[in-house]
Amino acid sequence: LLSVQKALSKMLTPLSPVGVEIVSLPLAMDRVICEDIISHIDLPLFDNSSMDGFAVRAQDVKGAQSEKPVTLSVVDDIQAGKSATKELKQNQAARIMTGAPMPEGANAVIPIENTDQYDASGQSEPKLPKEVVVYRSIRPGDYIRNKGEDISSGQVVLGVNNRLRPQDIGLLAMLGLPEIKVYRRPKVVILSTGDELLPVEIPLQFGKIHDSNAYALSALISRDGGDAIYLGIVPDREDAVRGILETAVENDADLILSSAGVSVGAFDFVRDVVQRNGELEFWRVNMRPGKPLAFGNFQGIPFVGLPGNPVSAFVGYEVFVRPMIMSLAGIKDHSRLRVRTRIDEKIESDGRESYLRAVIRIREGEWIARLTGHQGSGNLLSLVQANALLIIPSGVKSLPSGSEVEAWLLNTTSG
Ligand code: AMP
Ligand code: MG
Repeated sequence: LLSVQKALSKMLTPLSPVGVEIVSLPLAMDRVICEDIISHIDLPLFDNSSMDGFAVRAQDVKGAQSEKPVTLSVVDDIQAGKSATKELKQNQAARIMTGAPMPEGANAVIPIENTDQYDASGQSEPKLPKEVVVYRSIRPGDYIRNKGEDISSGQVVLGVNNRLRPQDIGLLAMLGLPEIKVYRRPKVVILSTGDELLPVEIPLQFGKIHDSNAYALSALISRDGGDAIYLGIVPDREDAVRGILETAVENDADLILSSAGVSVGAFDFVRDVVQRNGELEFWRVNMRPGKPLAFGNFQGIPFVGLPGNPVSAFVGYEVFVRPMIMSLAGIKDHSRLRVRTRIDEKIESDGRESYLRAVIRIREGEWIARLTGHQGSGNLLSLVQANALLIIPSGVKSLPSGSEVEAWLLNTTSG
């Protein structure tokens, strides 16, 4: 049986980002930048005050303290957004607001709190005083934000292949970039196969189940940077399966994702159809849950046939499809948040690489894991109750309580 690692590398090797497009900044959240962002400006663009106060020459207030204050004459009023009109001469000060440009001649700012202009009630006096009494000394450079101290012109501020986060969007706006070149979101066509499946809108009947995979998979796909297109439920008939795969091609899919119908059942046609009309690379992987997992291409479009059981489909997605979609979406770093955890009970496995649903929490400074409920691959509730997947390596059949294993954290969006 093919190992998880080998299967994954077969799936990722042929993939590359699907294309680029320009998006406006408000729509750029979670998009993947396709080139390094280089600043063409210094930020701040000019030396400015980091406090509301008075711009001064430090030498004029040398030795000033509350018992021995220094009085300066106020010659200018520099609001944020305005420029200074005068160069400071000896024993002169300019009232200055946070973010306003420093006047020529000044080399420091005295915060308003250290002057006689401070009103502890927080009421600021809009009228410009003729003089200001300064109760402290200051070092040259204090309370000045220097030109270029945050970002200097020519600096790479965001690297290619990263997904934009809120703080990144803020930075792009600071640089004055209203539009940004990103990778196109890959189109992932989803289809669910099985005569037992009912759309979520139709009440359950005996012998039937709701198609839950399509919904969980759509949510996973958009989380990971793809656009999910759900083509609906396909009956267990060869012609119907072929027909829907052709529809996927007509929809310009970058990836076709089916669930169920890839096992050894008498009505599992998906694998056959892909084999006959495309190429099937493999249809089983040495893992649990999710051994029946098919990979190939249909008319040149990558195809993954996930198992039908909801937990198997989810785990198969997390292990294989997530990195595939990220590759198509231009995301380089596929690493996930993972921790080493101790298990609080004995765990039996069958030697396949196993992904077990668990709750992990910190106890006395270390992670401790307990499995959630029934681990059957159709039992979605135990996955819902879990906050992690424990990974039991292949070849391991039994782990005593207290052993250490690796766990993937489930409750994070960025993985
Ligand atoms: P199969 O691979 O077709 O043998 O399906 C395995 C199990 O998964 C069966 O119990 C199916 O009823 C179930 N199953 C298949 N497709 C879905 C789906 N879309 N949503 C939920 N369960 C499914
Ligand atoms: Mg079936």
